[in-house]
Amino acid sequence: MSLDPLLLAGLALLVLLAVLAIRTAMFRTRQVAVRGIDAPDLDPEAPRRLARALQFKTITQRDPSEIDADAYRAYREYLEEAFPKVHDAMDRTEINEHSILYRWEGTDSDSGSVVLAAHYDVVPVDAPDQWDHGPFDGVIEDDFVYGRGALDDKASAIALFESMEMLIAAGYSPRRTVYLAIGHDEEVGGEDGAAAIADYLEQHGVSPSVVIDEGGAITVGAVPDVSEPVALVGVAEKGYLSVEIRADGMGGHSSIPPEQTSIDVVTTAVQRLRDNPLRASLSGVTGETLQFIAPEMGPAGKTAFANLWLLRGLITWALTKDPTTDAAIRTTTAPTILDAGVKDNVVPSTARAVVNFRIRPSESVKDVMDHVRSQLSDLPITLHPQQQGEPTRVSPMNDEWFDLVQRTIREVADGVVVAPFLVPGTTDSRHYASISEHVYRFAPFRLTEDDKHRIHGINERISISCYRTMIAYYMQIVRNADALGDAPGSDGAASEAPEVTAHERSA
Ligand SMILES: [Zn+2]
Repeated sequence: MSLDPLLLAGLALLVLLAVLAIRTAMFRTRQVAVRGIDAPDLDPEAPRRLARALQFKTITQRDPSEIDADAYRAYREYLEEAFPKVHDAMDRTEINEHSILYRWEGTDSDSGSVVLAAHYDVVPVDAPDQWDHGPFDGVIEDDFVYGRGALDDKASAIALFESMEMLIAAGYSPRRTVYLAIGHDEEVGGEDGAAAIADYLEQHGVSPSVVIDEGGAITVGAVPDVSEPVALVGVAEKGYLSVEIRADGMGGHSSIPPEQTSIDVVTTAVQRLRDNPLRASLSGVTGETLQFIAPEMGPAGKTAFANLWLLRGLITWALTKDPTTDAAIRTTTAPTILDAGVKDNVVPSTARAVVNFRIRPSESVKDVMDHVRSQLSDLPITLHPQQQGEPTRVSPMNDEWFDLVQRTIREVADGVVVAPFLVPGTTDSRHYASISEHVYRFAPFRLTEDDKHRIHGINERISISCYRTMIAYYMQIVRNADALGDAPGSDGAASEAPEVTAHERSA
């Protein structure tokens, strides 16, 4: 007996549809269920304290000797005046003069520590007259606090103090030691600030259970097919490599041009690197991002991501079509400098280009150099690696510390979807990755498309309701961390945890 081929094909299609449907139905949410908590009553003076902090011109400079040291000093004195309880309860250490580390001793010296990090330097303002309010006036208008640093990152820096001040006022004593790590040079790499703070902690034998820093926010309308806001928690940062490509010794008169000029060679090299980028892949952090977000999507998105076994290639291809998602799934290749020639009738003897790569965590500086060499091996050029840094390690996305951050966000910001993500840029937190396995980059302010342009841009501002959420978040991080039982030396297993234990995961 032989079956009709059409019938066979029909049966196969039915089976395929059934598999797709079953896998989609089994695609469970990765969002933990929580009971929301009410944000604490905010002292009416709190927004004004933030506004005042925005008035100090703690403007970053490439050359550290050029900063206005008086402004930095005045800012630190202001902290003492504005947050007396913190300054009573915590020890304070100045690091490289301008960075500050506060230590609030925990009641259980064996239970590890929590580092809450932020920075108080800000980028310069290039068009002050285009602001509605002076960038350093610290104006409050219509539920917004305006000023340079309102989002990046003085809101976090001041919310940290405000939240600790409130915990102290409420009589709270932390079980785990709490550090506030306030850097002063994040915008120029954090070498004198966060890197030195991390060194200091390491020298004092501190390896924090968790580090919370800036890097992610609550995005509004940024993720297609998800109606709720999505809180993106940075779990790693990309690496960095700039490579100079040079072609030398090919000059001549432009009336009889040589067969190959230095400009030809360098532009060919750049074009070849652009045409042959490093491979895009859904594995790694961005793959996990999708696993957290996709179950919250509409039926089409859910079906697609529940069935990566079938659609991985297609989805990867689709993600490469948008520069933002493309950057999330591969090491990017960006030509940034092109330099040759001095006179219109001279074929320059030298041409140079610089190409900047942002390296995803599964690749390294060496992998990228190998790729560049193999792509350009036949060209008469020399390669000169310049600034470089490896990608950070990836903090866990499936353990109790990620859960703690996720739970805390959902407690203070009702109804948001939480997902880990790969931070495309760099922050101070890369320096803490060497002393803690758990570094999470997130502050719970809402970020619309419009707000994104305000960071490092014009009319930077934060709403007072977001600011209130930030304060609630830092308070709750400390409380939830204290409730989590994983004292070092207890080999990380479920130790004598207080009542609030890690919840059941539903995924
Ligand atoms: Zn920042």
